Amino acid sequence: MTLPSELLRLADIVIDSLDCDSQYLTEDFLHKLHEILPDTLILAALDLIDQRKVTESTTPWGFVEYEVMGSNATRNVYIALPKTLVSSYCTCPAFNYAVLETGQSLMCKHVLAVRLAVRLNMCVKQEISLDYLTTSVTQHYS
Ligand SMILES: [Zn+2]
Repeated sequence: MTLPSELLRLADIVIDSLDCDSQYLTEDFLHKLHEILPDTLILAALDLIDQRKVTESTTPWGFVEYEVMGSNATRNVYIALPKTLVSSYCTCPAFNYAVLETGQSLMCKHVLAVRLAVRLNMCVKQEISLDYLTTSVTQHYS
């Protein structure tokens, strides 16, 4: 398995260079992104952000989780992972196949959507209350 690690690092740099305060993408930024990632992926990710499908949940102890609502399922996305082969991870089949197994893609649309939404401050934010956690854990194990 070979991952285009140089390209991935470049993608990380480009995405991280996005100005946090601006709620729009500049031509320059999109141009740089186009050089690394396919149009279809960028458009799909922007579409998810536009439709407010990216959720940032914070637990009472400050743990942050990202979820993306897809057409059939909600995907969990993990970003800013410590030094591993990939800096982000998604639970969707596309990520598993195209990124991890074959190395065809650098990331899936969910990962790109979360990373851009975080930079643009466009995640739907919610706080997970202790009550909610207790209920979901109880339901899970009963
Ligand atoms: Zn995904």
